[in-house]
Amino acid sequence: MTRATDVPTVTLSDGVAVPQVGLGVWQVPDADAAAAVRTAIAAGYRSIDTAAAYNNEGGVGDGLRSSGVPRAELFVTTKLWNSEQGFDAAAEAFDESLGRLGLDYVDLYLIHWPAPALDRYVDTWRAFIALRAEGLVRSIGVSNFQPAHLRRLVEETGVAPTVNQVELHPRFQQAELRAVHAELGVATEAWSPLGQGRSLGDPTLVAVAARHGVSAAQVVLRWHLQLGTIVIPKSVTPARIEENIDLFGFELDDADMAAIAGLESGTRLGPHPDEFSMT
Ligand code: NAD
Repeated sequence: MTRATDVPTVTLSDGVAVPQVGLGVWQVPDADAAAAVRTAIAAGYRSIDTAAAYNNEGGVGDGLRSSGVPRAELFVTTKLWNSEQGFDAAAEAFDESLGRLGLDYVDLYLIHWPAPALDRYVDTWRAFIALRAEGLVRSIGVSNFQPAHLRRLVEETGVAPTVNQVELHPRFQQAELRAVHAELGVATEAWSPLGQGRSLGDPTLVAVAARHGVSAAQVVLRWHLQLGTIVIPKSVTPARIEENIDLFGFELDDADMAAIAGLESGTRLGPHPDEFSMT
């Protein structure tokens, strides 16, 4: 059984500490979200990753409130959808997210995609800076930002995101982007950290898993933790929710890490951020 205190935290550039393992709830129906969140919190999770676009902020809020864990011990992330980008629209959309969640602040608020064709992410970022100044958000970050998008925010506002949440798994390891994050002081958060479960049968992962007496999913998540990445694996199955945070009884050695590094194939599961501006 994993205790919340077993899970390390990553300290962001603004001093805010994020649990390195959280629950992702993309594609979890609103009606199922509360149960998944309660199961996760009982299994030792303290961090939940949702988004306005997931249409389950209401269920997530119910799960948080009924978990029995004080708000101050929980870490809640939500995201602003593309159609709400812009200074005024972002502030309004944030209020709506807060209302659906039933919270009076959010721990981490992310711009979901840069949506470069809209060219509104800098104004959106100025709204995020204001939300943080008002104390409504503890930490502000982005998702799916490419190096040029990150650099533009810094050049035009002087404020770097604390986090960039990006597609990252053994088949798409984002080495170049991670180097830019290190340069700018941005923490890396992996979405689809398990590659949506599609390559867990890979023989390399299966062999490493057998050697440590754990599952391939646990090997992949442990690889992320040892890289310093924050992970938010998604599951609604209680046994998998527990398995995905039970990562602290084994350690990958250099040979394991090198074998997993060799699985890079340059293939994304999601859209390319330069080309995705869906509203
Ligand atoms: P994931 O890599 O977390 O994979 C989840 C899938 O893997 C599950 O649906 C299940 O089929 C399988 N799985 C989970 N645990 C398993 C286990 N222990 N053993 C075997 N199979 C297992 O994929 P995801 O849901 O795409 O990503 C995780 C979270 O990242 C999302 O829920 C969401 O919160 C976030 N996300 C963000 C963005 C973004 O644009 N910011 C995009 C996609 C996802």
